[in-house]
Amino acid sequence: MVDLHLRENAACGECRAPRLHVCHRPGNPNRTEAKSKHPWRVEHGIVTGGLIKRVSPAMVHTYFEYLTTEYPRGAGHGMLLVQLHGADTGQPWAPVGARRMLGRAGKRAGLGIVKPHAFRHSFTSPVLDAANGNLLIARDAGGWASAAMVDEVYGHVDVHDPVFDAALRTVWGETK
Ligand SMILES: [Zn+2]
Repeated sequence: MVDLHLRENAACGECRAPRLHVCHRPGNPNRTEAKSKHPWRVEHGIVTGGLIKRVSPAMVHTYFEYLTTEYPRGAGHGMLLVQLHGADTGQPWAPVGARRMLGRAGKRAGLGIVKPHAFRHSFTSPVLDAANGNLLIARDAGGWASAAMVDEVYGHVDVHDPVFDAALRTVWGETK
């Protein structure tokens, strides 16, 4: 949870708007590790570096609602997604837990089999549309279609780029 900087002007100095730092952490209690290995560090309890991603207002809202209504007190591990019921209440989810939850939700919604990777794929086309086909923006928004695109598209979009900002807001369903 220390990697989530969901308030304006976080103490890291890198997050003017809500963002999260994707940090490769080999020591997570559920043995998950982010694939990207951008350097990061913790100074005075504040995370800097890693791969910084924008966070939608809907995600921020869902986070605070979950933390204030469902998240068990005194979990003591700092992991966000945890077991909410049963003997393992408060224990962090392994990746299989997230996949199963998504599978059940997909079935309930009549969508068939939904896998986590589907979100990345379904994000690509709308971002490309909203950014007038700018591949750099689509990739840095996190919606790249394939590993090849990551290799083929060089450079990075300025996180404060107004076109980048507008594309994300359009895909997030925020009207101006
Ligand atoms: Zn930050």
